[in-house]
Formats: sequence, C-alpha cells, structure tokens
Amino acid sequence: MNFTETLSIRKPASFRLEAVDPDSTPGAKGKEQARTRIEKNAAAIDELQYRLFAENQRSLLIVLQAIDAGGKDGAIRTLSGGMNPQGCTVTSFKKPSEVELDHDFLWRVHQAVPRRGEIGIWNRSHYEDVLVVRVHELVPKSVWSARYEQINRFEANLVAADVHILKFLLHISRDEQKERFQARLDDPEKHWKFSPADVEERKHWDAYMKAFEAAIRKCHTADAPWFVIPANKKWYRDLAITEIVRETMESWKMQYPKPSFDPKSIRIE
Ligand code: ATP
Ligand code: MG
Repeated sequence: MNFTETLSIRKPASFRLEAVDPDSTPGAKGKEQARTRIEKNAAAIDELQYRLFAENQRSLLIVLQAIDAGGKDGAIRTLSGGMNPQGCTVTSFKKPSEVELDHDFLWRVHQAVPRRGEIGIWNRSHYEDVLVVRVHELVPKSVWSARYEQINRFEANLVAADVHILKFLLHISRDEQKERFQARLDDPEKHWKFSPADVEERKHWDAYMKAFEAAIRKCHTADAPWFVIPANKKWYRDLAITEIVRETMESWKMQYPKPSFDPKSIRIE
C-alpha cells in the first residue's frame, strides 16, 4: 500500500483525531530508510515540478495546518528544498490585516492560489477561520459554522479549474508540544521561535483538537482530501508528506507538450 492509501481517511463523517497516534509511523520502515527515501522523493518532486511547469495544465495547492510547534516550518523546508523557486510559492497566513478583515474570509487566500504550472504551499490557510476563530469566538458561531460549507464550495471551484488540493494536518501530542516549547526556551538560538502567547494558546488544546476534528469531518472531500500526519517524529512527517505529494503528481502522468513545429525541419545556421 502506498502512503496516500495508508493515510487516507476512510470515514470522514465519524473521524476521530484521538484514533491517530502521533507517535505512530504507518507504512514506514524506520528512520534510516526514511532519510534516503526523503532525498529520493525530493529529487522526484523536482522533476515532476519541471513537468508541471512545462505542461502548464494544472497547479498543486498544498495546505499545512498544525498546532503551535507542530512542525509546519520543518515540513515546508523539506518539501520546498528541492524545488525550483520559480515554480513554487510559499504563503504564510498570519492574523488578518484591517483590509483583509474588511473582506470575506476567502478573499486573501484566493489571491494566493497557485497559477497554472505552479505549486503553492500554504503555511496556515482559510482553515484558520474555523480553527483559531472558532476556538476564540472571534466571530459569532452562526458565522463560523457556515464557513465549512463555504470552504467546500470554494475548494470545489478550484478543483474545477484544475487546481489539485492536498491538505495536511500535522498531528503532534500535547507532551511533544511541551518538549518542543521547552527546547525553544532552553536554547538561546531558538528563543526567537518562542512566543509567550504560545503558552496561552496551549491552554486551549482540547478546543483546538475539536476544531481540527470538525474541519476534517466537514471538509474532507475526494477532490480536496485531508491527511492527518502523525508528526511527533519529524522524519516520519517529512517522509509521509513527500511520499503523498510524489504519488499524487506521478498519478497525473504528465507529458512534456508536443512542439507546434517540426524540430527536424529547423536548421540553425
Ligand atoms: P507559525 O506559528 O505559523 O509558525 P509565526 O510563529 O511566525 O507562525 P504567529 O504570529 O505565531 O507567527 O502565527 C500566526 C498567527 O496568526 C497564529 O496565531 C494564527 O492563529 C493567527 N491567524 C492566522 N489566520 C488567522 C485568522 N484568519 N484569524 C485570526 N488569526 C489568524
Ligand atoms: Mg507561532
């Protein structure tokens, strides 16, 4: 079984986050083998990205969500490391600006959708509007609860325009988050990664887990699937994501476009 199948969500409507062990490594054969495999995947994705660009028929949108210290940055580094920067854009969605708040919640993300031939990686996304916004009740329930359906319609629109969507939730345990925060406090070179607000957010752990679960239950679709990646082990996180991206792009069987001229008929003097 490949990683896409191994990690696919079979019954989204009754999905339980608790059922996914953040320490588990389904489909993997150990850390050493994973390292070699991640390198191979990176090289394969680089070649696939080249074809994607040449073909100019579709684009790939990769959405990354996680609790604080969940490993989004590390995953993005691994994923984008081998790619041609001209064909890949990483967009981070922070707290919305005043201008963004004066628009509908999809306005800012819509502009960051990768154009044909390109890959877009989103560090946080429109899902924040049903995650942090729900946890802190930044808008009334009647507003955020309507957003799941709005997200589904938005994503269906993109899929119809040949934007392929892969959504990853990096799932770490509460203990793992504590260890990662502590490591950031203990190491002066990591202090910049820490924010006292992270400790405040941690108090809402259960509410976040509920919100993640709801997002997956309501917004996992065949065309824009969620994958919950056990992410306590960084090597497994990187292995699983690069495998799924590679498998997805390989399944498209992309061909280089045929020339509109006969190369043999052209002579260069
Ligand atoms: P990250 O934590 O993603 O690595 P960072 O540490 O550089 O990024 P933060 O300011 O901690 O930057 O993260 C961005 C913050 O913006 C998060 O707290 C996130 O919940 C918040 N945010 C993102 N989108 C929204 C939104 N639509 N509404 C409210 N808050 C949002
Ligand atoms: Mg942060």
